[in-house]
Amino acid sequence: MIRAYVANTLAQAHLIKGFLDAEGIFAVVRGEHLVGISGEIPITFDTLPSIWVGEEDRDTARVLIDKALRNEIVFEDWTCPECGEAVEGQFTECWQCGSARSPV
Ligand SMILES: [Zn+2]
Repeated sequence: MIRAYVANTLAQAHLIKGFLDAEGIFAVVRGEHLVGISGEIPITFDTLPSIWVGEEDRDTARVLIDKALRNEIVFEDWTCPECGEAVEGQFTECWQCGSARSPV
């Protein structure tokens, strides 16, 4: 995997991961275990939470992240394809049945 983006905050990292998930790109957030002790270690590029994606998804991920950062990420509410529940836009999974949001 390769690092696609270094986020300023863990919340931002997870928002972007959710955005990539929703677009069908597998992404992981690394560095979050360091946040709890960030007062004790210097904050550097390597200790900030970062988004990692598969090498084959690198270019697509960068385009999507750019887009997300430019437009700010505004999620619309969606309807679960499995159970028909209305789910708020910031969630990538149905709170009722756990189905993943379908790619936009
Ligand atoms: Zn559901």
